[in-house]
Amino acid sequence: MEPFSYHRATSVGSAIASAQNKSAKFLGAGTNLVDLMRERVERPAALVDVTGLSRVIQETTAGGLIIGAAASNAAVAEHPLVRQRYPALSRAILAGASAQIRNMATVGGNILQRTRCGYFYDVEGARCNKRTPGQGCDAIDGFNRYHAVLGASPQCIATHPSDMCVPLVAFDAVVHVVGPEGERRVPLIDLHRLPGATPHVESVLRAGDLITAVELPALPLAARSAYRKVRDRASYAFALISVAAAIRVEKGHVVEARLALGGVAPKPWRARKAEQALMGRPATPEQFLAAARAEMSDARTHAGNAFKPQLAERTIVAVLRILAGEQA
Ligand SMILES: Cc1cc2nc3c(=O)[nH]c(=O)nc-3n(C[C@H](O)[C@H](O)[C@H](O)COP(=O)(O)OP(=O)(O)OC[C@H]3O[C@@H](n4cnc5c(N)ncnc54)[C@H](O)[C@@H]3O)c2cc1C
Ligand code: SF4
Repeated sequence: MEPFSYHRATSVGSAIASAQNKSAKFLGAGTNLVDLMRERVERPAALVDVTGLSRVIQETTAGGLIIGAAASNAAVAEHPLVRQRYPALSRAILAGASAQIRNMATVGGNILQRTRCGYFYDVEGARCNKRTPGQGCDAIDGFNRYHAVLGASPQCIATHPSDMCVPLVAFDAVVHVVGPEGERRVPLIDLHRLPGATPHVESVLRAGDLITAVELPALPLAARSAYRKVRDRASYAFALISVAAAIRVEKGHVVEARLALGGVAPKPWRARKAEQALMGRPATPEQFLAAARAEMSDARTHAGNAFKPQLAERTIVAVLRILAGEQA
């Protein structure tokens, strides 16, 4: 690991000031960043430890929830208001990593964790456009079982690895950001960028931008939400496919729907085509499959992940059937 300086931020202001050095990075629990530094993928000259900032999880005046960026993944998953009002969020977090990692990992760090594409971490042995722009992408003709089928580009087919972000994006979460130019709010759906020709630019955040909180709007529908993760091992594995969903059925028809996918795209993927295909239609397995197929109709596969569109369709249908069955 390269030498680096370390600052522990005691306030948002001191965090921003300490990060003025352009090669500084904010440090959550370091469960991803420290690995990246060990592998020499990232070489920040300074680390600004932001784990002392807000961990508060509380109701907003509008009936939603605000979650401090330094709250641990475990604290969010276990919080009574999260379990009661946004159960898919609790389940998604508990489906990720291990208990030890969830106890340490922060909400801000989870959102900005980097891809698990193996070539990205292989500094000596692999070509990677995300790590070294213009170098090439060894995943395209290599091991791409975990890689994207939606939203990718010829330059990069990596997926965003977070489970937590999938329900957050389904529920229209908004990220609170403070940077050198002040405060702003960014809908999570707009935070991560698709790779296009610049896969190394992963989000709309600028140097020195600090995530301070994530806000969930009041969403009664989310109280009956579900999350299902399909993976190669029962625990301690990233998603091949994951689905966060919530639907409301009245008189046999879908009148409200939220659906998002993980493991399929370079960002947490809001399945808007499927949502549109569900609205007003009968809550039947046939209609659920038609909606899933509408979403996956744009899929572009590679040798190792050709199974993903069908697996995504089956997983979406299975989750929607359970949700509809609970309301029958
Ligand atoms: C073995 C293993 C298995 C895992 N399995 C899963 C899994 O199945 N599902 C899953 O979702 N995740 C999984 N993870 C990933 C884990 O969830 C992330 O590593 C963790 O959430 C990152 O949080 P952190 O606080 O440690 O972030 P860090 O490693 O500290 O930071 C990650 C990135 O976020 C930036 N950052 C951190 N906080 C802020 C902030 N407040 N503002 C701006 N930038 C910030 C850092 O600069 C860095 O770029 C796994 C990790 C490991 C090691
Ligand atoms: S898929 Fe993206 S992260 Fe993986 S090797 Fe290709 S460019 Fe790098």
